[in-house]
Amino acid sequence: MSAPALKGPVDILAFGPHPDDVEIGAAATLAKESSAGRTVVVADLTAGEMGTNGDPQTRLRESRRAAEILGLSARTCLGLPDAFLGTEVWHADLVAGVIRALRPAVVMAPWKEDRHPDHRAGHEIVRRAAFLAGLARHSPRYPSGWLSEPDPVPFRPRRIFYYLINSPARPDVLVDVGGYYHLKRAALGAYASQFASGTGPGTAPAPAAETPLNSGVFLPGVEGRDASFGRHCGVAFAEGFVGERFPLLDSLLDVISCR
Ligand SMILES: [Zn+2]
Repeated sequence: MSAPALKGPVDILAFGPHPDDVEIGAAATLAKESSAGRTVVVADLTAGEMGTNGDPQTRLRESRRAAEILGLSARTCLGLPDAFLGTEVWHADLVAGVIRALRPAVVMAPWKEDRHPDHRAGHEIVRRAAFLAGLARHSPRYPSGWLSEPDPVPFRPRRIFYYLINSPARPDVLVDVGGYYHLKRAALGAYASQFASGTGPGTAPAPAAETPLNSGVFLPGVEGRDASFGRHCGVAFAEGFVGERFPLLDSLLDVISCR
């Protein structure tokens, strides 16, 4: 667990239960925002140490490579327990400390409906943490080494968006990512320990065990979903997000739609 090499406020702080989750749901959006000069930080809640394939060192190396591809400002791993995410109350408190320290304009987390318990737990942890971070009478936990100054002032993020991993949902907003989709493919390709089947893309040897991720249908499914969202608005690819609250616009004319 190490502090990201920057201080808040940041533009986007995206939480993923495991390395690769953020990429599945939002990689192209993060690449687009990074490319526009915005500060984008990813915090992996766990190192994915309980995954069927890939040891934590391998997965850390892959996540760093993906961060380079996406142009992230920083990436950190909070070291919470894989497969037991959310089983103790302090897990949300640690995430609250990260939010308070980095003061993000946008927080991202997994959508709540998902077959993986850690994805559902990650949703709830971040949602609770966003509230805890704003409580004036509460001092959250901070990752070791993060604070050299007194407890940052309470902060509650105003924009929380949930990205999709395994389950479909009707998004509240779509982001046109057609010009950045190649970076999503490349970032996902960095996770050879998770997605390489031995016969498809990737540089790792065949994984030890077959999983839903390396079955050969998972990544095409992700790309098909994003292409479907794009087709809905007449662009090549779009990533969809569910809002914690209704997105508020000044004017309906601010909406870029539909080509
Ligand atoms: Zn995951």
